[in-house]
Amino acid sequence: MAVDPKFMRTETKVVRRAKDAGARKLSVDICVVGSGAAGTSAALEAAALGRKVALVDGLPTLGGQAVNSIIGLFVGFFSGGDQKHVPYQITHGIADRMFADLGAQGALDYRVGPTTTNIMYDEVALQRWIERAIAEAGIIPIVGAIVSNVAMEGRRVRELELTTRYGKLRVEAQGFVDASGDASLAWQAGLPCREAAEGPIYGTQMLVLENIDMQHAPDRFAFAERVAAKHKQYGLPRGDGFAFVAPGRGIALVNMTHIETPLEPVAMSRIQLEGKAQADKAIAFLKAEYPDAFRNARVRAYGQPGVRQTRWIVGTHQLTADEVRKGVKFPDAIARCAWPIELHSREEGYVWEPFGHDHMHYVPLGSITCADADNLMAAGRCIDGDAAALSSVRVMGPCMAMGKAAVNALDLAGAGSVHQIDIAALQERLKDNLVRTD
Ligand SMILES: Cc1cc2nc3c(=O)[nH]c(=O)nc-3n(C[C@H](O)[C@H](O)[C@H](O)COP(=O)(O)OP(=O)(O)OC[C@H]3O[C@@H](n4cnc5c(N)ncnc54)[C@H](O)[C@@H]3O)c2cc1C
Repeated sequence: MAVDPKFMRTETKVVRRAKDAGARKLSVDICVVGSGAAGTSAALEAAALGRKVALVDGLPTLGGQAVNSIIGLFVGFFSGGDQKHVPYQITHGIADRMFADLGAQGALDYRVGPTTTNIMYDEVALQRWIERAIAEAGIIPIVGAIVSNVAMEGRRVRELELTTRYGKLRVEAQGFVDASGDASLAWQAGLPCREAAEGPIYGTQMLVLENIDMQHAPDRFAFAERVAAKHKQYGLPRGDGFAFVAPGRGIALVNMTHIETPLEPVAMSRIQLEGKAQADKAIAFLKAEYPDAFRNARVRAYGQPGVRQTRWIVGTHQLTADEVRKGVKFPDAIARCAWPIELHSREEGYVWEPFGHDHMHYVPLGSITCADADNLMAAGRCIDGDAAALSSVRVMGPCMAMGKAAVNALDLAGAGSVHQIDIAALQERLKDNLVRTD
């Protein structure tokens, strides 16, 4: 068939990068770095306040670890509870719309356990939900963009420099949220940060297996015992991993590896391979120990290496494990949580310290407020806490609540300081996430 000449392309032109090619500039009211549970919530809540928002992420897609590491389970959104004490939702905000929309698509599976209530989600549906919500809210997404420099002016963050494959971009804003998980913004700004002093907190290479015979899916508790007894036989360092089976989707979400997550580029790149090597051993375990269920299983997807705790900000208050255990209700509380202390501080396993059905602990404003800056808030897994305390508030429920609190604090501060806002006014805006209303 003859080709229409008007669609033929043969001409080329020679181009060369200009020597003085400067960075493109963007000006917004609020710039959020990190598009995980915390950053997505921050961006959507800021847009709902009528602010012009940019949402930056180093990965080429939005959604942070919830999407790209295939976490697969929302936790920390409900109070503790059991058969006698009905759990209730403790984090609202964007979670309400998200649960309603994903639930209507059949993308959620509620699981009421003996101490916690969790929701399994379809990560592909979540990704599209986030993308649509960001687009509909008029938020400017900037993906594949790493914060490579931060310009300060006194105690204020003035501008971020982002490095992308398409060139540099500078974003100036009145207020900034560090929802990077690694306190990347605070770190690049030269502000003090914290790391765990007593050894690594382990991450996990997640994977999704498909083609499972659901009728023979193992019982969760017997499975845990078998992993503990036999993991070494398969060369698996971790002895308390688990595989969540999602019957409606015919898949299993496998969380059976423990990898270090150093903030060093060469080591972290090598760990990508180490995580997959451990995942291979987990698959060998599943196929050999539960052949009826996993004989024909194959990997549908590997997540990005899952990172739990690395580096976090120095706030005006460091949340402690003792405050978490006692359920201290701070005068400047901005989020609440009932999730156990879940500290992945050993290669073989993790510390699990659950609480009673009536327990609640709180995150104070001081733990999400950078001590040395007037317009920089943190949200999510890089807020200020000791390592054990942080492990109980870095799950997705409180991450979303912190995102909402961070942008409301910035909104109240305006051109002033987040250290001088009216706390009662802030808490009034956050009351759904602080007190039981049903
Ligand atoms: C294996 C694993 C299992 C878990 N299981 C659960 C669970 O079952 N349920 C649950 O609720 N929670 C779970 N958690 C915890 C929870 O997933 C995370 O703590 C939470 O998702 C963190 O959200 P976040 O928004 O703070 O950060 P993240 O989701 O980590 O998002 C941070 C984003 O910032 C970006 N970023 C970082 N640095 C830069 C930079 N310099 N420039 C630009 N962008 C940058 C990253 O690309 C990333 O997308 C788990 C965590 C792991 C690792």
